Amino acid sequence: MSEGFESRPSRNGTSDGLRVSFEFFPPKSEDVEPVLWESIQRLAPLDPDFVTVTYGAGGSTRERTLFTLARLAHETNLRSAGHLTCVGASRDDVDQVVRSYKNAGIHHIVALRGDPQGGVGERYVPHPDGYATTADLIRGIRAIGDFEISVSAYPEKHPESANFDVDLDVLQAKIDAGATRAITQFFFDNDLYYRYLDRARARGISIPILPGILPVQNFHQTANFAAKTGATIPVWLASRFEGLDHDPVTRRLIAASVAAEQVFDLLDHGISDFHFYTMNRAELTYAICHLLGIRPKLVKRAA
Ligand code: FAD
Repeated sequence: MSEGFESRPSRNGTSDGLRVSFEFFPPKSEDVEPVLWESIQRLAPLDPDFVTVTYGAGGSTRERTLFTLARLAHETNLRSAGHLTCVGASRDDVDQVVRSYKNAGIHHIVALRGDPQGGVGERYVPHPDGYATTADLIRGIRAIGDFEISVSAYPEKHPESANFDVDLDVLQAKIDAGATRAITQFFFDNDLYYRYLDRARARGISIPILPGILPVQNFHQTANFAAKTGATIPVWLASRFEGLDHDPVTRRLIAASVAAEQVFDLLDHGISDFHFYTMNRAELTYAICHLLGIRPKLVKRAA
């Protein structure tokens, strides 16, 4: 299985042909805002392919997402993408957000349906005047402007998908509507991702499917999040963090080594695009990028 790059990058510390992207979330309050911007400042010189800013469940961070995107556009030369969900909102409301992204100079949207309003595991009910599916949302976005569209993909299939065929039907529908890149839910067992890629490629899905890498800042939080999203926490991962609840320094070292192992294995399988869930913290992502041979580009203007 290869993602089709002719000269494959390797573990020798050169970053030729490698591309990274980073996800951030809008800060919940002004006092944690500096944490985000310090992280952006640290990671920006690594010249990511793009960075993304999440959109809180049901649009709960609408203003803060927009504010963060606008600041990225004004204060950095990073290529930024805004996440957008259509759950619980009318088409007019969603279209308004799309226009505000456009006005802020954002031309790349990570288009998502969003979790059911009753919570994960509940039945998804579209807003009566809203976009019913992500594919509908993508068509709506493209009617407003010439946006680049990325979407989600689920190596362990989405919890609502009865099987992988259904899951890949949904991915195909999103591509047919105009998506040109997928970014996966985080995973820790690379075989799940390789099998998913094989399934997708066997169906003729050829868009890039970037692995979503989550450096484990906090194991318990990660395990809780994984339980909600249907991602598996392997026994070996739990065992590596066992007994370290009060030992943040060792935890960070373990987290770096776990993520390094994961990305090197992906690299050995011909993967050269990596999307990092930074959780607004630069340290681990920066270290892993460094291991991949990615070094600051001094010409880049940071935040
Ligand atoms: P889709 O991929 O459109 O659909 C998910 C599943 O729903 C399908 O696999 C299928 O099982 C079922 N389904 C959908 N349409 C149909 C249909 N027509 N017929 C039958 N079944 C169907 N959430 C946020 O709130 N904000 C974010 O910023 C955010 N960013 C994310 C970024 C990434 C990279 C990922 C992987 C997830 C993100 N999420 C975010 C989570 C996401 O909103 C949830 O996983 C949500 O439950 C599904 O949204 P989706 O766009 O992935 O759905």
